[in-house]
Amino acid sequence: MLRQALLVASRSDGVRKVMETAPLTRGVVRRFIAGETIDDALCVTDDLIGEGLLVSLDVLGEDVHDASQADATAKHYVELLERLAGAGFGARAEVSLKLTAVGQAFDEDYTLENARRICTAARSASTTVTLDMEEHERVDSTLRILHELRRDFPDTGAVVQAYLRRAEEYCAELAYEGSRVRLCKGAYAAPESIAFTDKDEVDKSYVRCMKILMGGKGYPMLATHDPRLVDIAGALAVLSDRDPGSFEYQMLYGIRPQEQRRLASQGAQMRVYVAYGEEWYGYFMRRMAERPANLGFFLRSVATR
Ligand code: FAD
Repeated sequence: MLRQALLVASRSDGVRKVMETAPLTRGVVRRFIAGETIDDALCVTDDLIGEGLLVSLDVLGEDVHDASQADATAKHYVELLERLAGAGFGARAEVSLKLTAVGQAFDEDYTLENARRICTAARSASTTVTLDMEEHERVDSTLRILHELRRDFPDTGAVVQAYLRRAEEYCAELAYEGSRVRLCKGAYAAPESIAFTDKDEVDKSYVRCMKILMGGKGYPMLATHDPRLVDIAGALAVLSDRDPGSFEYQMLYGIRPQEQRRLASQGAQMRVYVAYGEEWYGYFMRRMAERPANLGFFLRSVATR
């Protein structure tokens, strides 16, 4: 109930305006978000890479409805990638892209062109782009764009959301040689007809998907903070005879940071998803929806200001 309410609020302009003008402490938002500028993002990236972690950078912003804003976001990604190239991080720092930030809400061809510009800049920086998966209405379009991009940029990463009833089918289609696939539970509201809404069902689906990806020929990117699923991933790696370089774990910046470092210290590849920018509201609210304890932390910090 609370999760659904927070997810509805994450899409409400009214609540967003109230939240953005609320006396948020910088610390609360900064727990999950690296800052507002490219410099902030690079500083966090440098620290994480220095600690042996990998990074995927996300420029906050989504559901854009006009071309000038979409164009500005694409340019921002290109500038970010130029800066990453200058820093010489290579594939240790890639980018994650929400297609609705570059035009998907109004023009698929235009979105593809923007995504191509970003992939071209990523190639120059010797790194990759992963296409985040958003609301269920966007899945077909995102997969179409992914397949187009992979003709020229075969290392473009895909995302499968385990809560979708079709998740196993997507994993089977995507588990081919060279295919980078992130598996996550799914962060958006979706109807029962399309997605599992029961947590146990989602977890079971995640395990079934993981088996397909780990047993397949692609490069699985297991995005979860769930301790049980992380353990199962480790067991599946042994069973599928996968060496640590043939898959990676992924977690969000600010969530289970000690576990991120523990996995890296054991020789696993651990990528941290680092979001930054001014448009923090939707991203922040989805993190609140995932864990009521975060909401308590947020409300306490506002109340004690
Ligand atoms: P949960 O069942 O939510 O949590 C399991 C345990 O992890 C909790 O008991 C708690 O100990 C810990 N935990 C989880 N969340 C939090 C939190 N917010 N704060 C503190 N502790 C927490 N979703 C999409 O729909 N599309 C995407 O493209 C996408 N990309 C992602 C990329 C990465 C790298 C990650 C890590 C997640 C991504 N997600 C994406 C979000 C994902 O779908 C889940 O909503 C999110 O990861 C929470 O699910 P969980 O697997 O961690 O399990």
